[in-house]
Amino acid sequence: MSSLTERLRRLIAASGPIPVGEYMALANAHYYGTRDPLGAGGDFTTAPEISQMFGELTGLCLADAWDRAGRPEGVSYVELGPGRGTLAADALRAMRAAGLTPPVELVETSPTLRARQAERLAAVRWHDDVATLPETGPLLVVANEFFDALPARQLVRAGDGWHERVVDVEGDRFVPKAGRPVPGSAIPAHVREAPEGSILEVSPAAAAIVRQLAQRLVRQGGVALIVDYGHAHTAAGDTLQAVRGHRYADPWMEPGENDLTVHVDFEALAAAAEAEGVRVLGPVAQGAWLTALGIDARAAALASTAPARAGEIEAAHARLTAPEQMGALFKVMALAAPAWADPAGLA
Ligand code: SAH
Repeated sequence: MSSLTERLRRLIAASGPIPVGEYMALANAHYYGTRDPLGAGGDFTTAPEISQMFGELTGLCLADAWDRAGRPEGVSYVELGPGRGTLAADALRAMRAAGLTPPVELVETSPTLRARQAERLAAVRWHDDVATLPETGPLLVVANEFFDALPARQLVRAGDGWHERVVDVEGDRFVPKAGRPVPGSAIPAHVREAPEGSILEVSPAAAAIVRQLAQRLVRQGGVALIVDYGHAHTAAGDTLQAVRGHRYADPWMEPGENDLTVHVDFEALAAAAEAEGVRVLGPVAQGAWLTALGIDARAAALASTAPARAGEIEAAHARLTAPEQMGALFKVMALAAPAWADPAGLA
């Protein structure tokens, strides 16, 4: 039995069931803190690991936003949850070609992944959270598959109203169940009357980070690109999933040994950002965004310089953009400081 499973069993035995959000927070802190989960030999893959085109186009989008803001001095590249550092490496190379070489500020809690990032990127600074990011100069922020890994609460509709969903132990299993009641006023009106058994996911951690980023953009200038899988509008649904070895696993088994995610509620993040005074663009489908940024031309250029890899490049292009692959489920939302223009591809 893993050490986290033991710890959670003891915690629940001593003080009762814990909220799903707490379970997810402890599981993912252990998971990301103890391994590099990416790539073919790992548990899952991501857009920047599929092709350099993703990071390059992201970098060009940021460089273009900076250019249209009048090329201000003192701008920083900020990435949340940079994984292996692949997106940053590709984005910084594309930005350099566009005349921009910003200092690199990475928000990353995993020591294992910080070590991987150090192998790929020179002269970066790490942060445990967004609070310590530079206080001056515009910020060019990217977060790919970061918000889905943040802990979400689950609220469940029972016969007598909404309850916090909690995790208990039964025999050798963790089991989710309805916990203490939550007031109906805490549930968005259009979800409140959902049928019994419905689940609403709310991520206070994600909303708090978006609020802090938005405050920084208003004060310092800049833009943020948030790329993730999720829904454009708040809706009921249990999207908590576990992935291990590129297969779905049981989220209530072996916490900390598989990747737990929830779909991102872009409407909730947009509301958090707008309340702080930034402009929100999108979300738009990832496929449409990459196409607007010129992925077709980039794929053709790469294939012409490496004809032996043409098939692989075409497959990566389809994987990133086709609606039945990552093109539609993955979405891109941008936050823009009041004086900055809309980032490309989000109109
Ligand atoms: N963006 C990368 C990796 C996505 S995996 C890619 O697209 O390949 C999620 C990343 O977020 C990992 O780097 C993980 O260590 C980091 N992460 C997860 N929870 C975090 C938290 N609370 N604070 C900072 N980083 C976190």
